[in-house]
Amino acid sequence: MGALTTRQFKYKARVWNLEKAQSVCNYCGCGCTMNYETREGRVVRVSPTKNNYLCSKGRFGWDAIHHPDRLTTPKMRVGDRLVDCTWDEALSVIATNLKVIRNKRGAGSIGGLGSVRTTNEDAYVFQKFMRSVVGTNNVDMLARLKIPKGLNGAFFSGELNRIGENDVILVLDKDTTEINPLTGIEIIRAVSRKGRRLIFVNTGYSKLNKLASVMLPLSVEDALGKLVSALSGAKAGKDEAVAAAADHLRAAERVAMIVPAQVSDAESSRIKDLAKLLNNVTYYPLVSRSNVQGALDMGVLSDYYPGYQKIHTDTTASFAGSWDAILPDTPGMTAIQMMNGIASGTVAALYIMGDDPVGSNSPSQAVLQRLDFLVVQDIFMTDTAKLADVVLPAASSAEKEGTVTNVERRLQRLSRAEQPVGESKPDWEIIQAVARKMGGSMNYGSVRDIMNEIRSVVPMYADLAIGACWPEEKSPLAGTDADLSLFSDSVKEVITAERLLFSSGVMITRSRELETIRHIKVEV
Ligand code: SF4
Repeated sequence: MGALTTRQFKYKARVWNLEKAQSVCNYCGCGCTMNYETREGRVVRVSPTKNNYLCSKGRFGWDAIHHPDRLTTPKMRVGDRLVDCTWDEALSVIATNLKVIRNKRGAGSIGGLGSVRTTNEDAYVFQKFMRSVVGTNNVDMLARLKIPKGLNGAFFSGELNRIGENDVILVLDKDTTEINPLTGIEIIRAVSRKGRRLIFVNTGYSKLNKLASVMLPLSVEDALGKLVSALSGAKAGKDEAVAAAADHLRAAERVAMIVPAQVSDAESSRIKDLAKLLNNVTYYPLVSRSNVQGALDMGVLSDYYPGYQKIHTDTTASFAGSWDAILPDTPGMTAIQMMNGIASGTVAALYIMGDDPVGSNSPSQAVLQRLDFLVVQDIFMTDTAKLADVVLPAASSAEKEGTVTNVERRLQRLSRAEQPVGESKPDWEIIQAVARKMGGSMNYGSVRDIMNEIRSVVPMYADLAIGACWPEEKSPLAGTDADLSLFSDSVKEVITAERLLFSSGVMITRSRELETIRHIKVEV
């Protein structure tokens, strides 16, 4: 026993001396639960909870929290350099600059970009700060470029551990096992243990290829179009693979459809056309980033308050009453509009909490350099933080409490495994300190206070237990054509970075273990 151990854990501690803090992996939208195992207040290992699955990212990628790039003190720009400063100095500079810009150019000249790496509580406080303290609905997420069209409207996700209940699994994204490894594992289990049929639309290599009953080496749009034709009664012609796939789909009582993270308008409408021809379709949208669902639920959206409550006079009055604040009653700019607004000079200041647009897409650098004032709050000195006027050090997900909501809409709790590094703080605490410096009246004592308020204003969360999924019919967007994705053919060209299993990302690229795994050559 104990003959095999990980290099990360070797000689670090005796297993019987470890303490455990149950938490959630923050690498992708599957939200696998896990235990941080600590020795003398420092994480030395991560293990799955019960018999749960953890992919390599979840099991080994935690070491990024100990990377020397971690921000440990606030910094402010002096000339060309960012120099360490006190929290009070940093907060004063932010409050003064945001107020001056608001007075001169209006609150609409300030924007906020939120994060999908932070907790629900962080996201909620951030959007509330932008709306009730800064005074603008210009609050959004660039991560909306990378979510499936129709997420939380047409394509609500099923529960991942029920994929195997479907007779046929139609996979429309070749990178499924990379983007959401747990989804990939559930597909593999469904096929290899339960004999379910897999129809795989893919023109290249994937570990799912050899499991597929039918391979469709076509583009997603072509495959969907041919399947719709075949199932509508048109002859599949000489395409035997399409005919075989159509036969499986026609015979299936239940079908799981794995929806790509980025879908064009044409693909989206063909998915819906196909679903109308099938029995009992459950969608499984692929969501690469961890708390996308939670950030959307919490209203980090320029046109919706928390809980997908569309911004208009009535909802504004309701939230103004709940928050005891004066709120703007017109929708703000989306993340794309904010970036365009910076380029054209209508947006002068930007507050970024937990995102790195420059690291994801280097042309953003030239855009952000046009700002009069940039605040970046993050755990690392990212490429975006290097451009900022003030940089604020945030605690990592291992160093704070709160909740996150995975792609299944399952509410899960993070426990603090370590104290925040250096002077870093949880994001909500930082935002609250900025709000107070600007004269706002936020006064939360803990994440529990914030969650109590969330429960009072977000109907889906009112009585949602930890570990439960909120039902899709509770969403105001259920059955609508609301499109929360900002992805379109016109922005396709500007998205240069792909975030696959080990290749990119603020955390992944700072994990020594994942860097090692990435360079292991696997013969296929
Ligand atoms: S599947 Fe996603 S959430 Fe689960 S361990 Fe892997 S990266 Fe983390």
